[in-house]
Amino acid sequence: MRAALLSPLAPAAEAPSGALPPGMHVLERGWLSSNSVLFEEGDRLTVVDTGYVLHARQTAALIDRVGRGRPLARIINTHLHSDHVGGNARLARSGAVSIQIPAGGADAVRRWDVERLGYRATAQRCPRFGFDRLLRAGDMLRLGAGCWQVLAAAGHDPDMLMLYEADRRILISADALWEHGFGAIFPEIEGEPGFVEQRRSLDLIARLGPSLVIPGHGPPFRDAGAAVRRAYQRLDALQSSPERNARHVLKVLVKFWLLQVGQATVARLIEHFRQARYAHSVHQRYFANLTFGQMLEQTVEQLCAAGAAVMEGPKVRSVDGAGTD
Ligand SMILES: [Zn+2]
Repeated sequence: MRAALLSPLAPAAEAPSGALPPGMHVLERGWLSSNSVLFEEGDRLTVVDTGYVLHARQTAALIDRVGRGRPLARIINTHLHSDHVGGNARLARSGAVSIQIPAGGADAVRRWDVERLGYRATAQRCPRFGFDRLLRAGDMLRLGAGCWQVLAAAGHDPDMLMLYEADRRILISADALWEHGFGAIFPEIEGEPGFVEQRRSLDLIARLGPSLVIPGHGPPFRDAGAAVRRAYQRLDALQSSPERNARHVLKVLVKFWLLQVGQATVARLIEHFRQARYAHSVHQRYFANLTFGQMLEQTVEQLCAAGAAVMEGPKVRSVDGAGTD
């Protein structure tokens, strides 16, 4: 890992403060780490999602700075993907921190089953953490000064949850809705349902009609209606071509790894993904006519064509600020 390539604290940005209730802060960074949403609660803090492990120190420093040194009392996770829970272990070391996770992940976390948690499938890293409480759809949570409903948001992940504050119509949408898209529908590449669930999650967001959406990645945005329309179109396209969905999953995984390492030879990239079960699943189910290496070479070419990566001699390098769409 090339720590030097990670950005220092500067790129972290807060949402336009006028849009948020007092004492609520959105900490946004690059795509490697999810956004963290920080709530001031008297002399203590609660944070929703903690980013990827490579940013854990930065996450702790940001929470300390934005929270003006108050102790962190609670971590809440929308889902257990490595880019949303990677800071849990480090932040929990800092004192009496209660961790609350979606109930669907309880057993896998208790046993630290990296297979079920998906860290082996994606070949991503995540330091072990425990939990103190579970979170279920239908629960109500007091966060800062607001009362937040816990909502089911399957599709990208079967156990994912969103948080909604009805008075101000603020939605913490996790990876169910971004301003331009949503998280890859991983379950479908292994024959598990995901498209139907994602549509249900979008239907729910459309019914809520939030006035502000704080997505899992990217800046907060106000026009939820337009984002939902774009998301339906994208979902239609993916659902009508599962092969396209599989290609998208590969691009997401490769781009995520490139964001960590900065650059690598294509040979090293292929070696890395030999550890990733999802890459093998996609290969066997969709691209068995290619070798494993050819499939990933094509993925690299597609990322380059989209401007998300560039070839420099034998190496492929991540292009900053470019996603995978
Ligand atoms: Zn996710």
